[in-house]
Amino acid sequence: MTTVHEPTATAAVTATSAHLSVWPASATETRRGDLTVGGVSLAEIADRFGTPVYVLDENEVRDRCRTYRHAFPDAEVLYAAKAFLCRAMAHWIDEEGLGLDVCSTGELELAVTTGFPPERITLHGNAKSPRDLDTALRLGVGRIVIDSPSEIARLAAAVGPDGRQKVMVRVVPGISAGGHEKIRTGTDDQKFGLCIADGYAQHAIARIVDQPQLELAGLHCHLGSQITNVKPYLAAVRRMVGLMARLYQQHGLILPELDLGGGHGIAYRSGEEALDLTTLARRVRTELSDACAAAGLPVPRLIIEPGRAIVGPAGITLYRVLSVKRTGSHTYVAVDDGMSDNPRPALYGARYAPRLIGRHSTEAPARVTVVGRHCEAGDIVAADAQLPADVRSGDLLAVPVAGAYHVSMASGYNLVGRPPVAAVRDGIARLLVRRESLEDIRSRDMGL
Ligand SMILES: *Cc1c(COP(=O)(O)O)cnc(C)c1O
Repeated sequence: MTTVHEPTATAAVTATSAHLSVWPASATETRRGDLTVGGVSLAEIADRFGTPVYVLDENEVRDRCRTYRHAFPDAEVLYAAKAFLCRAMAHWIDEEGLGLDVCSTGELELAVTTGFPPERITLHGNAKSPRDLDTALRLGVGRIVIDSPSEIARLAAAVGPDGRQKVMVRVVPGISAGGHEKIRTGTDDQKFGLCIADGYAQHAIARIVDQPQLELAGLHCHLGSQITNVKPYLAAVRRMVGLMARLYQQHGLILPELDLGGGHGIAYRSGEEALDLTTLARRVRTELSDACAAAGLPVPRLIIEPGRAIVGPAGITLYRVLSVKRTGSHTYVAVDDGMSDNPRPALYGARYAPRLIGRHSTEAPARVTVVGRHCEAGDIVAADAQLPADVRSGDLLAVPVAGAYHVSMASGYNLVGRPPVAAVRDGIARLLVRRESLEDIRSRDMGL
């Protein structure tokens, strides 16, 4: 069980469930070597929808939303839509009472046109287009997070003389945290936010306060992603309250909100660490009230923005094995997709633990490299996977923890077509997003 998880009543802990620690709580092994999730056999899903296919356990998503609301009862929890968004997901997030954090017109319009309340949406982005800002203002988003000095005047002008928009400022607290260099965003020298160290943050805040069209609600920071330790968050609280104290001394400014972003780490393979949410909530609350008391400030309302930890462990990718090739030192098990449905191994060296489903094998596990079908040597699904030694063409493989940054990062490489997304719940599977067809690809192509 990942530590962010509150087991549901059905999650009986059995002797074999150690193997299932990174799977949805509903995952159950059957005697014939299959696995059911949300009460539906994964092999049956592969038969019905074809492979490759993404599977999402709806109750796992909902349980994770509830775990957050339970751990942070006084905070506002915004789901970071970039981890995975479709209309059904927006609906679940709405029903579970979370807000939404978006960073493009596409994410924003998809959510609002499906009925998500715009006042519970926050718009982010280090480079918002004029269209992003216009759409956000037209639809009436709750907050816009200012990420660069040039945005201040642009946004104030777009709001117009009679309007008023609630904003936050993305501050770089100067803290290094996160699972990989490419997903660290709290350090001084990267593209996001405004630094405290060089004074850009303070300067921007003074300018925002001067704009009657902008209502500064608070400070925002996002340290990075896949952070498994609470310490960087506590350091961020101290830096942010330090800045709030200086703003109070210099401008008499009291900011009612503090957004600590997301980045909560999850386990991708059994034995890996995940961020403990209960500990995070308790330690952040204490650190925040202590730091505010020391600075003589009222405690701001906390906002957090988890993405990966809400949806990552709820998703699974199913592949069909197309070939098994044994070279001198390696066994390459090639499946029917790869870097176009999941670029994370190529981008960050992310590591996964696929397993055989749909048949029972008595063979001992062997170390294999699961690769994709794309035309790049770096097209790897899982670098050192353990699969039964008799793995062969036609077998089904399931990759757990595929719910975050897979669908949303999928590409059109090799015109393989992006896989469908099926949701499972209470023994029923239904299609949320259909497979991208050749007709979809051809219809965008304007021809000769
Ligand atoms: C990506 C992002 C998040 C969510 O990050 P996770 O690692 O998925 O929790 C939250 N806030 C902002 C501003 C982000 O850019």
